[in-house]
This record gives sequence, structure tokens and C-alpha cells, in this order.
Amino acid sequence: MTARHSSEARGPDDGVERYTNDAGPSKPTGASAETVGAPLSIRRDPLPAGLYIVATPIGNLRDVTLRALDTLAGADLIACEDTRVTAKLLAAYGLKTRLTPYHDHNAAAARPKLLDAVTQGRAVALVSDAGTPLISDPGYKLVAEAAARGLPVIPIPGASAALAALAAAGLPSDRFLFAGFPPSKAGARRAWLADLAALHATLILYEAPSRLAATLADLAALDPERPVAVMRELTKRHEEHRRGSASELSAHYAAAPKPKGEIVLVLGPPAAPAAAGPEDLDRMLADALTRLSLKDAAAVVAQASGRPRKEVYARALALKSPGEARE
Ligand code: SAM
Repeated sequence: MTARHSSEARGPDDGVERYTNDAGPSKPTGASAETVGAPLSIRRDPLPAGLYIVATPIGNLRDVTLRALDTLAGADLIACEDTRVTAKLLAAYGLKTRLTPYHDHNAAAARPKLLDAVTQGRAVALVSDAGTPLISDPGYKLVAEAAARGLPVIPIPGASAALAALAAAGLPSDRFLFAGFPPSKAGARRAWLADLAALHATLILYEAPSRLAATLADLAALDPERPVAVMRELTKRHEEHRRGSASELSAHYAAAPKPKGEIVLVLGPPAAPAAAGPEDLDRMLADALTRLSLKDAAAVVAQASGRPRKEVYARALALKSPGEARE
């Protein structure tokens, strides 16, 4: 079994759901009974009732976890965007679980039926055509309503184009925002990009090949030097990573034939603002000190001014007690 959960296992009724997962070997090298006895293989045991959110490959069919296969094999029903796409994945692994469509056009009618099935004790797996459900794919309302009904929701993690792209883009990964697809209309897209572009974080966007050049042109107009990685056809035969500034990549795709396949755009954070001079610093601090404590004002102004926090703190102290510390 992939996960065990029962009302007894949930503990006190404090609104918190607790699950006991049968974790299997915790490290590839761990010598558990399972690895010593026999090599790992797909389990086909029926699963406890629940809604299982199962990640599937984003191109390469081998990028599926063993636990995802256990779940797809053991579920009573798999809800999927396109039954033909999921049937191919199942066929590749010799699985025959029943499929039912769940997509934007039938979700309102299909959702209560899937949730009723879980309520009646069934294990329902949700997959999308590729990657992790809910990530620019259907599933959010299904999960929200399952949680509202108190039904178990079990994530079965795996591939997602957003994280695969971030992992290989070579751009800062300590702070990032996944923003999905930009709006398709030019005006809305520009406003959307301008809003996000100021954020001090790496941005991950999905984009259609037909709109890549236009989106890069908008980005180049906003911030020509911004570092960008165009991550195309990840895990597939013709995978390609192209890195450069927004203006370089915009020029490239304006001249090149329209790219084929699927694309993730990763934008590095914007350049830090030029460090503020002494007068700017004093003005910023004077303003911040009217609202914030000395410590908080120093922290906020250090971030905004690009000056070292220690220096800004000393200056804030001097401004607060002019007689003692001013040079
Ligand atoms: N749920 C999926 C996930 O977890 O990645 C994303 C689904 S969204 C409808 C499809 C978009 O994801 C594509 O238009 C593309 O932007 C991105 N994508 C999916 N597979 C990709 C791949 N192999 N290479 C690059 N981008 C991919």
C-alpha cells in the first residue's frame, strides 16, 4: 500500500490531517528488508480511499516514480485530462486501471462524482497530460473540495516542467516565483510583466511557442539586461536550453523561425538598484524612522538602498541621536 490513513490514525479532531505513509526505503543505498529481499517493482495492491494527486512525465516516459506507478495500478479510477494521453502511459507500464475524463469543460459535473466515489471508499487518482496536476493544469477545485469534505488528499510527487527548468537554467534558485502563462493579449501581457518584473526573485513562466518572441520583446523593452533562459522540450529528444539577456534572446527569436514544442521561460532577478548616495540614504532613513523601529528601518532601507546593513544601522543611529554619533 502506498499510504495508510484512517479515522483512528488521524488523532485528535484539531482540524489537522495526519497521514502515515508506508515510506519504503528512505535512501537508495538503504538496506531495508525490501531492498535486501527483492528488487523494487510496481505494487498492484488496492489503495485506501483518497484522492491521489499523481505527477506523470513531462516528455520522457521513464520520468515516472515507482510510487506513481503503484498508485496508478492500485487506484480504482484515474481521472485524467485526455484519456488517450494517459492510456499511453498506462500501456507503457502494462497497467489497465479505468480512466475517466476530468478537464476544464466537464469539471463542474465530474467533480462531485469523483468526490462521492472517494466518500464511498474508492481510491481516485488525478493526473494531467504531463507533469504535476494543478500546476497550470486542472485539479485545484477538486483538491479544495476534497479537503473541505475532510477526504484524504495524498500528493504523489514527481516531474514538473517549472522545477526541471529552474534546476537547469543556471539562474538563482533561492527565491523564485512560478507565474504560469502570461496573458495572450499584448496590453494585458505588458502590464502583467511590468508588475512581476520589479520583484526581486527568479520568475518561471510557461509560454506557447507562437508567443515566445512577443513575450521576449516585451521583456526586453522593460529590462533589456535581464538574464533569461529559454528551456525548450525538456526531457525530450530535441531538448534545448538557450541563455542570454532579454534583448539578446528577443533579437534571436525575432529573426529565427518559430520554435517548436513546449517552453519554460526562466528570468533571473532584476539587477540590484544602484547603491544610494549619502543624501538619499538620510532621506530614506528619515522617512522610515517616522514609521518603524530603528532596527526595522535600517533593515528596510538597507534592502531598498543596496547599502550594507551595518552601515545603514550606524547611520540610522546617528540620525536618531544626532549629538552622540554624527560625524
Ligand atoms: N502541469 C504541468 C507541469 O507540471 O509542468 C504543466 C502543464 S501546462 C498546461 C503545459 C506547459 O508546461 C507547456 O506549455 C510548457 O510551457 C510547459 N511544459 C510542459 N512540458 C514541458 C517540457 N517538456 N519542456 C518545456 N516546457 C514544458
